[in-house]
Amino acid sequence: MSTSHAVATPSQPGDRPRVVILGGGSGGLELAAQLGGRGDLEIVLVDREPTHLWKPRLHEFAAGTISSSLAELSFYLLASLRSFRFEQGSVTGLDLAARRVRLDAIRDRDGRVVAPPREIAYDWCVVALGGVVPDAGTPGVAEHAIRLDTKDDADRFRARFAAAMIAARETRRPAEVVIVGSGATGTELAAHLRRSERAFFDGGENGRQPRLLGITLLEGAPEIMPGVDADLRAKLLERLAALEIDTITSVEVSQVAPGEVSDARGKSWPADLVVWAAGLVGAPSLADLGLGTDEKGRIPVDTTLRSQADERVFVFGDAASLKAPGSERPLPPTAQAASQQASYLAETLPIVAKGDPVEPFRYDDKGRIVSLAAAGTVGRIGFGGHDDLLIHGQFATAAYHALQRQHQWRVLGLLRGSVAIAADMISPAKGPALKLHGG
Ligand SMILES: Cc1cc2nc3c(=O)[nH]c(=O)nc-3n(C[C@H](O)[C@H](O)[C@H](O)COP(=O)(O)OP(=O)(O)OC[C@H]3O[C@@H](n4cnc5c(N)ncnc54)[C@H](O)[C@@H]3O)c2cc1C
Repeated sequence: MSTSHAVATPSQPGDRPRVVILGGGSGGLELAAQLGGRGDLEIVLVDREPTHLWKPRLHEFAAGTISSSLAELSFYLLASLRSFRFEQGSVTGLDLAARRVRLDAIRDRDGRVVAPPREIAYDWCVVALGGVVPDAGTPGVAEHAIRLDTKDDADRFRARFAAAMIAARETRRPAEVVIVGSGATGTELAAHLRRSERAFFDGGENGRQPRLLGITLLEGAPEIMPGVDADLRAKLLERLAALEIDTITSVEVSQVAPGEVSDARGKSWPADLVVWAAGLVGAPSLADLGLGTDEKGRIPVDTTLRSQADERVFVFGDAASLKAPGSERPLPPTAQAASQQASYLAETLPIVAKGDPVEPFRYDDKGRIVSLAAAGTVGRIGFGGHDDLLIHGQFATAAYHALQRQHQWRVLGLLRGSVAIAADMISPAKGPALKLHGG
């Protein structure tokens, strides 16, 4: 049996204060890269995975329209490039009184322990453990639907999708994919699957061929993409119709069974594959940190992103429940918000560590852009409220990619980030050449 040991003792007088960042996703990795190399703070990043994958592209990996192996970045390599320390391990709890993070043992693929449970001491802890799609208690979701939370989920979906498409090609009966939830994930995944279908057409992707894939988007609300304005929704509906994606609203799914999704009124839809993409709650491990959670499992924070339960702990991104001044609802769980919060903490944590006061975080909503693969990109970008602009075409595509470019620059630095962007643009795995195997 393995026993816990400490990998780092609490900092002594004269040591640099240690900041331990939990979660190296969209927000946590940007923060570690921006704080790394500072002379006045020691930075430790913790993640259960050895590699970083930018979550907003998960649907593209799932659909096979890009290769995740090209997009994955090793945390160990990034740590040496950006001068922080990386500790792999799953966070199991915090000892708030002793200021220690508890990590589970690391096991290899055969279940053998390669590193025992550990504890890491901190002066300041930053929680960026993200969120997951809940099953909302609907029978059959856990067993028969896939939720796109991790790279493993995307890999699992892609393997099943490829198998369903091969069967459809053989039998000439279209494979049926049902996606529950018409937010950005569901809508964009549907469009990318339509693009992937072309890779299975006889004689290649050119020309009109009989459909091999039926795609149905089911939404519980009366309109698709709850939260977007009517003009943007109309544009999205037009493009989804052009892609022959069925959108059905006001559907209260009551069960997912093998081969079928049914609703509370007794209607059912055939389904070879089901993706559950309805809603987001805080990652399950947040409940074990002793910091309290809201009704969606996220940790409440004040306007400086400090946990309301412990002044030594900050929380941001999908893990945090942050209400902007005057607003009843917390900020949306987006990479856009996580990235802005990472930059804010990169500026304020060194000030906090000196014991000085900081200004509150202010969210700047830059709008919402949806990429529908072959059907183009549409969105609305913000100019501080009144003059928001509905955009499409090349401009919208450039704006869509801007968030990712910014992430690559922040994580890799200007030079390496630019090289990664160039490699991404000429990647042979881009486009409808479906990647069938591996990660
Ligand atoms: C398909 C899809 C498309 C999206 N598109 C967009 C978009 O276009 N624009 C946008 O702004 N947002 C988009 N989002 C939302 C965006 O991805 C998230 O809001 C963002 O990634 C949140 O960042 P985060 O750092 O809080 O968490 P995450 O990026 O989820 O990172 C959490 C990290 O914590 C690690 N972790 C979790 N639990 C543990 C544990 N117990 N121990 C150790 N490590 C752990 C994970 O491995 C991960 O690295 C999309 C999301 C999805 C799924």
